[in-house]
Amino acid sequence: MAAVFGLAVLLILGAGEWATRNELETQWDNLRRSSEVQALALRGVATRYSYLPFTAAQQPLVADLLRHPASQSVREAANAYLQAVNAHAGSDTLYLMDDKGLTLASSNWDTPSSFVDQNYSNRPYFRDALHGQAGRFYGVGKTTGEPGLFASAPVQRDGKVIGVVAVKVRMQPIVDTWAQLLDPVFVTDERGILFLGSVSSWLYKTSKPLPVEAVRQVQHDEQYGAQWQPAPVPWKLLQRPDQPGAELRLPGSGKHYLAFAEHLPDLGWTLTLTADSKVVALARQQAWALASLASGLLVLGALYWQLRERRLQENRQARIELEQRVHERTHALQQAQAFRQSMEDSLLVGMRARDLQGRIVYVNAAMCDMVGYAASELIGCLPPYPYWHPDDLDRHWNDSDTSLAGKATPQGNENRLRHRNGSDVYTMFYTARLIDGDGRHIGWMSSVVDITAQKRAEEQQQQREAQLQRVQRVITVGEMASTLAHELNQPLAALVNYAAAARALAAQGRTELLNESLAALSTQALRAADIVGRIRRWVRQHPEAREPCDLNAAVDQSLGLLLRAEARRHGVAVRLDLAPEPLRVRADRVLLEQVVLNLGLNALQAMQVHATPPMDHELLLRTRADAGHACLEVQDRGPGLPPEIAERLFEPFFTTRSDGLGLGLNICRSIVESMGGELLARNREGGGAVFEIRLPLHATPPVASP
Ligand code: ADP
Repeated sequence: MAAVFGLAVLLILGAGEWATRNELETQWDNLRRSSEVQALALRGVATRYSYLPFTAAQQPLVADLLRHPASQSVREAANAYLQAVNAHAGSDTLYLMDDKGLTLASSNWDTPSSFVDQNYSNRPYFRDALHGQAGRFYGVGKTTGEPGLFASAPVQRDGKVIGVVAVKVRMQPIVDTWAQLLDPVFVTDERGILFLGSVSSWLYKTSKPLPVEAVRQVQHDEQYGAQWQPAPVPWKLLQRPDQPGAELRLPGSGKHYLAFAEHLPDLGWTLTLTADSKVVALARQQAWALASLASGLLVLGALYWQLRERRLQENRQARIELEQRVHERTHALQQAQAFRQSMEDSLLVGMRARDLQGRIVYVNAAMCDMVGYAASELIGCLPPYPYWHPDDLDRHWNDSDTSLAGKATPQGNENRLRHRNGSDVYTMFYTARLIDGDGRHIGWMSSVVDITAQKRAEEQQQQREAQLQRVQRVITVGEMASTLAHELNQPLAALVNYAAAARALAAQGRTELLNESLAALSTQALRAADIVGRIRRWVRQHPEAREPCDLNAAVDQSLGLLLRAEARRHGVAVRLDLAPEPLRVRADRVLLEQVVLNLGLNALQAMQVHATPPMDHELLLRTRADAGHACLEVQDRGPGLPPEIAERLFEPFFTTRSDGLGLGLNICRSIVESMGGELLARNREGGGAVFEIRLPLHATPPVASP
């Protein structure tokens, strides 16, 4: 900004300087041109009548008068002649002097200020003419007191000057034209005395100091009147070397003029024209004013520009800050959005938002995965939703109405949904109010937990418990059978003993002892009957539930029940080689599955204790129809059956395992046999054992398993 102010000041100063110089040049030019014109006019007036004395001097009448000055008639004729010529030429006075300077005739002979009889011998123009030269002189008239230009010529006769003819020309008309010029114009003689000018108070004053002789000469010549005393002009000329003229200063008035001097060497005069220098000052002031205006505009412009720049800068800064803030905010929002999105996507819990009418407005990825529909397919849906289970529509409507009425239980609702792929999905819905940022209730938010796996686990657990109960029952049956067999064994052994004793006593004829033996025998028989009765009663209480079923299905079922899981736990591969057609048998399905399970578990245990390489461990379940029988072989790569074990395998309580009961195979055989079949065991080729169930094939098709 300081630079602008500096520039403005420079501009103002420069403009002032330029205007001054320009105006000065103009003024000097004007003065030069004017002075040329005025000099021309001055020279014209000064020389116009210089011929007149010479011409008059040739007139014989003039010489006659000089020769006969006393002749009145000649004098009158000469006066008339001079008067006529003067009037014709337009000069002021034309007159004739004798060689003593006495005027003999004059054109103004008949006026009160007549020159006749006046002596002008002290005048330089007379002296010059007397010396035979043309004279020229400016001075104040001795007779009239009026200034004028005097020109003279000698009157010569016979090579001798006998008189002088002179003409006086008034310079007043030219001075009158100078009055039209506003500024002073003046003419100085060779001595520097101002003798002609537009300012009358300056007349006959000296513009430079005069030597004493010069003063004396002027006084002698009465050039500027008889009373003339030297006095300086009231102004000073200061030379300006860098300019074509000088500066004229009027101390009293404080006025300054430009003064241009034109020398007229032929006349010995110097013509000076002036011009008021206030014009220059005015031009300078105008330039200053204009420059100040321009500078003001410049400064204002600069200020405006600076303000505008500052405002633009501020705006730019504000915009940058705003953009930065928007960027940061957007980034933060994106981060928050991304965080929320990843949180939502990582949620295993489904999320579903609905408006007050039940229209779905939001679902997360877990919810979509749960039901198999894309978010775009679900958003905008009103009940019934596409994932509602078709078999539970009433329940869904009821739950929907309840939750939209705000009456959903905080414990949640269990719902069965239908996945898009047709599978069932069990879920728990927990619904709560959806509140917006202003605290308004705008809908409902539900979190949905997939409990299908849990549900299946529960079902499996239930099935397993049922199976366990059945196993327990089987075990109980086996234990019971074994216990009863054991109990029956005692009375039957006693019966055999008592019968042998009775036969011996009968042979000996020992009747009393025979009776006692027979009595004891019948007691044991009754006890045996009692035991059998108990068996019957137990059997009646547990009737055999034989039904048509498929041996392949029993294999499948036992695999699903436990076997496959156990095989996986033992690191054993299960291989199935099942007959393509169903193998229909009549059996207690539960017990049959239990037998298969037992045989399979035995095989896994055998492979576990045996040191065969684990990659060889394989459980092979093979079914086939063979000679009217449905056969199932359970084959393993365990240690196989050495003879001492093979012999006792099916005995109750035979076991080689520390934690074994030794009842499993025994019971299995009982069960299989109870179904009219048989259970066989043998060694497998290449190592391992084979247990084979053989059951009679049943003709009627089995009822499909539920
Ligand atoms: P437990 O399993 O309680 O021992 P089991 O009656 O099921 O009772 O088995 C009796 C015995 O038969 C076992 O201890 C084992 O010695 C033998 N055994 C059973 N299955 C196999 C098999 N697949 N391979 C070899 N030995 C077996």
